[in-house]
Amino acid sequence: MKQSARPDDLPSTIRHYIAGAFADSVSGQTFEVLDPVSNTGYTTAAAGQPEDVDRAVAAARTAFVDGPWPGLVPRARATILNRIADGIAAQDRRLAELESFDTGLPITQALGQAQRAAENFRFFADLIVAQADDAYQVPGRQLNYVNRKPIGVAGLITPWNTPFMLESWKLAPALASGCTVVLKPAEFTPLSAGLWPQIFADAGLPDGVFNLVNGIGEEAGDALVRHPDVPLISFTGESATGALISANAAPQLKGLSMELGGKSPAVIFDDADLEAALDSTLFGVFSLNGERCTAGSRILVQRSVYDDFCARYADRASKIIVGDPSDPATEVGALVHPDHAAKVLSYIEIGRTEGRLLAGGGRPAELPEGNYVSPTVFADVPPTARIFTEEIFGPVVAITPFEDEAEALQLANAVDYGLAAYVWTRDLERAHSFAQRIEAGMVWLNSHNVRDLRTPFGGVKASGLGHEGGYRSLDFYTDQQAVHISL
Ligand code: NAD
Repeated sequence: MKQSARPDDLPSTIRHYIAGAFADSVSGQTFEVLDPVSNTGYTTAAAGQPEDVDRAVAAARTAFVDGPWPGLVPRARATILNRIADGIAAQDRRLAELESFDTGLPITQALGQAQRAAENFRFFADLIVAQADDAYQVPGRQLNYVNRKPIGVAGLITPWNTPFMLESWKLAPALASGCTVVLKPAEFTPLSAGLWPQIFADAGLPDGVFNLVNGIGEEAGDALVRHPDVPLISFTGESATGALISANAAPQLKGLSMELGGKSPAVIFDDADLEAALDSTLFGVFSLNGERCTAGSRILVQRSVYDDFCARYADRASKIIVGDPSDPATEVGALVHPDHAAKVLSYIEIGRTEGRLLAGGGRPAELPEGNYVSPTVFADVPPTARIFTEEIFGPVVAITPFEDEAEALQLANAVDYGLAAYVWTRDLERAHSFAQRIEAGMVWLNSHNVRDLRTPFGGVKASGLGHEGGYRSLDFYTDQQAVHISL
């Protein structure tokens, strides 16, 4: 059976981490973890049950109420956050190796994600040190100021795409704010999260501030969502799961941050730099195996350049190197899990009846095993098609022509999602006015998906609720208390 380069020293079991110590589930239950190339189990992970979540929340609660963490001055917390970043950076290659093995991401891209995880910690370390507190005067009468207080135990629930980086995107601001946390990573990909305990311990994070419970979403995740001592949940995952979690958290009126799915448009006008747009739209849907929330998975192209664009796009897509995730030459690796690969392949079959297949169309012939899917391009996809409206979360793109700006806007907004959008035109007036009218939380004009961590991150419509990024993340993890003083 074909196997990707197997990292040394894989754990024989993946455990919880509670109150500064590794732990198994009280019930002894475990689940099997597969690697996406051989699709065989390489380890088992503790399957957290409500009693495990209770223990983790109790440890986090104790660390919050009795421990030093929430009361440390920002500089002291920032020092530890920077040491965490150093710890991540020092083992970025090991991290990338584990992540690539567990998720099927190409190794070069997994390395970039590891480095982003370190950057997330450095960014929030800088932010809390630089943070100004708000104060308001009513001259001669009143001085009012805002007292920021960490909310308490934050429940963090994360998906399987770029797992370690997305965990860092929640852990860094939660810890920077002075909260203590319980992290529930995705069950498909629990391997890299197992590195956090040592990284945190080495950096001097007090025991109990970080707790990890592995497990199935409907078990461990659900117990965290419903736990009365967890006042806020930061969730990244599918929109349907987000809606369910919102409902389950509602009776306790929890704070919720919801980073959900997407079906983002890339809109290409006929005056665009087509070569740059080609580069970017290929990267936008085929990097990270297409398992990217902000993937530009619908490309809308103005009719006058449509045929030329489609031909060049399909030609380049068909040359993308699909293969072993551990090979540095690989551009698209193996999809995370056989169930997910089956879902993506089923959308390709649907696509055959909805659009015109230009490239790909299933499993590469030379890769009979593993969760490999060829970069697949459909053209002439109508807006009623399922491959136009539904998130596929794999290397599959739908291309649709438009006549004019009005039609482009109508097509761009014609789905339930509203996470990201990409617009390509040399007419900057049009670019800005189009951005204004597009229903998306984030817009990139003539640009790759490059993040500025100070800007809001989040979606509208079915793509999410609330924005993180910069001070918005700190707002989420803190209560802002108004203090009024009469003068
Ligand atoms: P998912 O919703 O299946 O699972 C996400 C997490 O939720 C996992 O840890 C899972 O165990 C947990 N979970 C599942 N059911 C739960 C429940 N009832 N209660 C509590 N927790 C539960 O998502 P996924 O398949 O892991 O991830 C892919 C999805 O994530 C895609 O839709 C993608 O667009 C989205 N995503 C969004 C962003 C963003 O920032 N907007 C980023 C990455 C991924």
